[in-house]
Amino acid sequence: MQIYINGAFYPKEEAKVSVFDHGYLYGDGIYETLRAYDGYVFHLDEHIERLKHSAKLMEMALPLDEDGIKKAISDTLARNGLKDAYIRVSVSRGPGEIGLDPELCPVPTFLIIAKQFVDYPKELYEKGVNIAVVNTRRNHPETLDPAIKSTNFLNNIFAKMEAKKAGAFEGIMLNHANFVAEGTISNIFIVKNGELVTPPLIAGILEGVTRGLVIGLAERLGITVFEEMFSEAALKAADEVFITNTTMEVMPVREVDDKTIGAPGKVTKMLAEAYRREALHCLKTRKLTD
Ligand code: PLP
Repeated sequence: MQIYINGAFYPKEEAKVSVFDHGYLYGDGIYETLRAYDGYVFHLDEHIERLKHSAKLMEMALPLDEDGIKKAISDTLARNGLKDAYIRVSVSRGPGEIGLDPELCPVPTFLIIAKQFVDYPKELYEKGVNIAVVNTRRNHPETLDPAIKSTNFLNNIFAKMEAKKAGAFEGIMLNHANFVAEGTISNIFIVKNGELVTPPLIAGILEGVTRGLVIGLAERLGITVFEEMFSEAALKAADEVFITNTTMEVMPVREVDDKTIGAPGKVTKMLAEAYRREALHCLKTRKLTD
């Protein structure tokens, strides 16, 4: 495995960053997770846009422009001979003297890890997964804005630890106002009476690329979509529930805590299929890296 770090490639064992990197010292960094289908990176532009947005919110200048990032990603895939890949792009504040001031770090660390994509077990899509509503609250947007895809991930890690103890596939966090926010690595949707509901961005969530695509697909399919706050009780009373992210796409939920939802429902199936069709369509028309 060859890792890209600031313009050069290193074998996995030699791919190292400084212990003075503020990404390591303070969790001062951002990242993106992308997926390549048969050599084409799905929704690359949207991921780069979000990386730029995260960088802007933390006042960090990215060392590469859009074309530079695209080239670095495609070079990494080529170097590793990958077609179906999991790609992680991380940008940290970079090495600098100890201290919180970002000005101590003149050069960010830009690295890309790409590895063979391993599909989630088919069974999960056929039967659905179980999720747990955890006690850990999603970061308040005025403390650490969840819109920043930050490597400062303790909030989500605490939620993940709780979910794991509950034997759940994913942990769902409520926000500061007691409404459902999102999962540790996913956005959440419910279906009630044939209509789709997902928390709005002001709930304090990451603007998932998959979430955006699913909303668009639903609208194209004539499904009414509401971006609206909903409670834990509404989540448990839903007809269907699913979670989304770049690697799992549309994942049906069969259980929320002790409540059986009974997945996958009709709307979930429609959207999961539409998502796959969209990926294949983009692949065929070679649109993925445009
Ligand atoms: N919410 C959080 C907290 C995440 O970490 C992720 C992805 O990792 C998502 C939502 C889903 O985002 P995307 O669809 O862009 O992968």
